[in-house]
Amino acid sequence: MSSTVPEWKSLMRSNIRRGSDLPDLDGLKQDEIDNVRKLYPFFSNAYYTSLIREEGDPIWQQIIPSEQELNDPTYYMEDAVGEDGDDSPVKHLTHRYPDRVLFTVTYTCAIYCRFCTRKRKVGKNPVPPWNEMQDVFSYLREHTEIRDVLLSGGDPLLLEDNYLERILNELRSIPHIEVLRIGTKLPCVLPQRVTEGLTDVLKRYHPLFVNTHFNHPRELTEEASVACGRLIDAGIPVGCQTVLLKGVNDDPEIMKELMLGLLKMRVKPYYLYQADLVKGTHHFRTDVSTGLQIMNYLQGNISGFAVPMYVIDAPGGGGKMTVGPNRMVSVDDEWIVLRNYEGKEFRYPASGSHDAEIPSEYLTGTILADYL
Ligand SMILES: *Cc1c(COP(=O)(O)O)cnc(C)c1O
Ligand code: SF4
Repeated sequence: MSSTVPEWKSLMRSNIRRGSDLPDLDGLKQDEIDNVRKLYPFFSNAYYTSLIREEGDPIWQQIIPSEQELNDPTYYMEDAVGEDGDDSPVKHLTHRYPDRVLFTVTYTCAIYCRFCTRKRKVGKNPVPPWNEMQDVFSYLREHTEIRDVLLSGGDPLLLEDNYLERILNELRSIPHIEVLRIGTKLPCVLPQRVTEGLTDVLKRYHPLFVNTHFNHPRELTEEASVACGRLIDAGIPVGCQTVLLKGVNDDPEIMKELMLGLLKMRVKPYYLYQADLVKGTHHFRTDVSTGLQIMNYLQGNISGFAVPMYVIDAPGGGGKMTVGPNRMVSVDDEWIVLRNYEGKEFRYPASGSHDAEIPSEYLTGTILADYL
């Protein structure tokens, strides 16, 4: 019997949800884990847990419950980016941007990340019943401006192949929906889930994109590489969303290694998120200036292809906004003054008109500071 159970399902059944289910690791405080998990569920599997090397390391911090989750500043919010309020026209759907929506198809994950933006929901709700899913499909049918549906969660790829196919099939029957996207952490935390059976389903629904989620170079294992490769070989472009996390990856060299490692797996870095003001996660938040320094370092030192966009998702439903090191010192009708990653400033003609008088020294890469 057991030989017929796919590996990913046996791993899900490794069922690590209490302090005592963990391997014997130095520094584990089981009481603390069991205290915190009453409020925010704890779940992991033998694969991801095996990546822990020592107390407090980057993998540990992402999955092991900590008392710090219970001591938030008062202004931290459960729904920090306003997903459930006015922007949710039907249950399980967030429609914030004109042409695209976020559709929560499940609230279960393969692990519960301690820093999760949806900490209020994940692991606490069942899979939406089909009649509620149908309400979402009706809304999507009526709203012809929607051309892009992002399946999210929870982790959509934890659904069974045939159930996922049922959802994809419904969505594909809506003529104005052009692009399907799946947000999934499984290539990172349960890569065994990306079976050939799964990619056989997914590839029937192109154009379909996957955004996955890696936060540290140690997660770029052979298994993860096989999973991403399988998706990509099925014609699915795979991007990565990374969260900037204090003590995990808030370091230019670690971030560089992560981004270059992703690229070697053919995964395109997409977003680097500033951690949201989510209740239970404040100990992961870095200063925005740290993020800006990391972006400056990446932009200066590695291929643009490996550089994600740094985004802040504003509270109250403001949406994602890209921020970056300020390249523009000033601009007027004639000139734009730009600053490169080394802090050198360059003047460039802002006007498209060819009548302007441009001193030739401005066009030879001469450092502007010498003229000021
Ligand atoms: C992030 C997000 C999307 C997708 O945004 P992109 O910037 O196009 O990747 C859509 N809807 C909501 C509510 C989101 O948070
Ligand atoms: S996998 Fe994603 S949704 Fe699930 S806990 Fe982690 S960050 Fe949250």
